[in-house]
Amino acid sequence: MVENTPQDRTDQIVAAIRSHWKGNQRCPLCHSNKWTLGELSAIPSFDEPNVDFGCVHPTVPIVCLVCGNTLLFNAMVLGIVSEPNQPGTRPLELDYVPVAEGK
Ligand SMILES: [Zn+2]
Repeated sequence: MVENTPQDRTDQIVAAIRSHWKGNQRCPLCHSNKWTLGELSAIPSFDEPNVDFGCVHPTVPIVCLVCGNTLLFNAMVLGIVSEPNQPGTRPLELDYVPVAEGK
């Protein structure tokens, strides 16, 4: 098995985000287009009703270099992370919850 280098991982993340980010790529707050890729991270979530961090969402942050606005992309949805890689994680299960109605 061939190991991915950090640059391979970065290239994969950038390609995945570019394939999904259509249209205007300016920051919605300051209107700059100076974004940088953050480190692959994990956002813990509560596993109610136990109130422990039973689920981790692997996340790729994209940070506006002008105002700090941060976009978070789910790394499993992007195809960057395919399996839970930390103890206590479980496969991502997302219910579709519309947050805005299209016109
Ligand atoms: Zn900004």
